[in-house]
Amino acid sequence: MKHCNRKKRIIPWILVLCAVSFSACGKQPVKLTSTNTAMGTVVQYVVYTKDTKVAEEAVLDLQAKLERLEKEVLSRRVESSQVGVINAHADSQAGVPVEQELYGYLQEIQEIAIESDGALDVTLGEIITLWDLDSLAMSDSKEQQFLMLPEAEALEWALQNTGYEKVVLEEEKIYLPEGMSLDLGAVGKGIACDRISKELEACKEIEGAVISVGGSVVTYGTKWDKSPWNVAIVHPRKEGAYLGTLSVNGTCYISTSGDYERFVEKDGKRYHHIMNPHTGYPADSGLCSVTVVSDNGLLSDALSTACFVLGAEEGIKLVEHYGADALFVTVEQELVMTDGMKKLFKENK
Ligand code: ADP
Ligand code: MG
Repeated sequence: MKHCNRKKRIIPWILVLCAVSFSACGKQPVKLTSTNTAMGTVVQYVVYTKDTKVAEEAVLDLQAKLERLEKEVLSRRVESSQVGVINAHADSQAGVPVEQELYGYLQEIQEIAIESDGALDVTLGEIITLWDLDSLAMSDSKEQQFLMLPEAEALEWALQNTGYEKVVLEEEKIYLPEGMSLDLGAVGKGIACDRISKELEACKEIEGAVISVGGSVVTYGTKWDKSPWNVAIVHPRKEGAYLGTLSVNGTCYISTSGDYERFVEKDGKRYHHIMNPHTGYPADSGLCSVTVVSDNGLLSDALSTACFVLGAEEGIKLVEHYGADALFVTVEQELVMTDGMKKLFKENK
């Protein structure tokens, strides 16, 4: 059995300053780069600034905010997080009060669940727990490399306890039926990107930035030479290689979902972490990766997951409904793109 996860190595905290141009007064733009981990993945910061001290502090502050976002709001593994508390109180007849920001996210997520016909469904916590593919793919422990396919009965139970249509959001409260649990893994990194761009707007000393939280990237502002931001898209089948580059201007959100990030192979079959909520099995729609570009982080992240489940044909309809663009890589390594994406993407040949 093959075991793979590219994110598992924790990269130590590095803070590097690269002078882009030099001047005696020290007020020319510099590029600040740093790498850390948050939200269960690698976070890479590239920031263009004329005031390095302020930018350094801003990056440290962003990092602390991402860690808090995970711990206090989104992580279902932390009992005291907002999502943890909701899950612990499933079946509360009185509903569970939800803080305004998370309530807004849940409303957006619910709308995308409806539009995607349940391809995005954040109520599949029980299915995720049953497979436990994330920890299996991330584990170094030999014993854990043996993937047990779920028993039919257990899968049936998990499927019965899944379904966005069973959730009610009303007056800033959520009503989650007993046995169900939320998992916001499909949108968390996109939400993080939304938060990052808001924070950057408040920091006038930062003129431009490209920040990636795992497979979700936010570009912000302008580069010192006013050239577009180039974001490399990982090749889903050639480790360490790039499929091509996306060129975008200003603030933009780019999310990629793929079957190569966290997976386990058994008997020649790949079991990855993006599930089809209708079958309870890893999605099998003929794709190995989907990249979505839009003007909203949560949306790009949600759509990349939903499109991965839907496949290229239905996925294109969904992204076009939201005015977003997408690049699909099929298992045969063919590229399918929306018209807008054709203008942004340059393939590495
Ligand atoms: P990544 O986490 O690698 O960026 P995604 O954004 O596609 O990838 O999210 C995958 C995560 O979302 C899974 O690890 C799981 O927690 C959750 N998930 C898997 N399938 C779905 C789905 N169909 N709808 C909603 N959430 C999902
Ligand atoms: Mg996603």
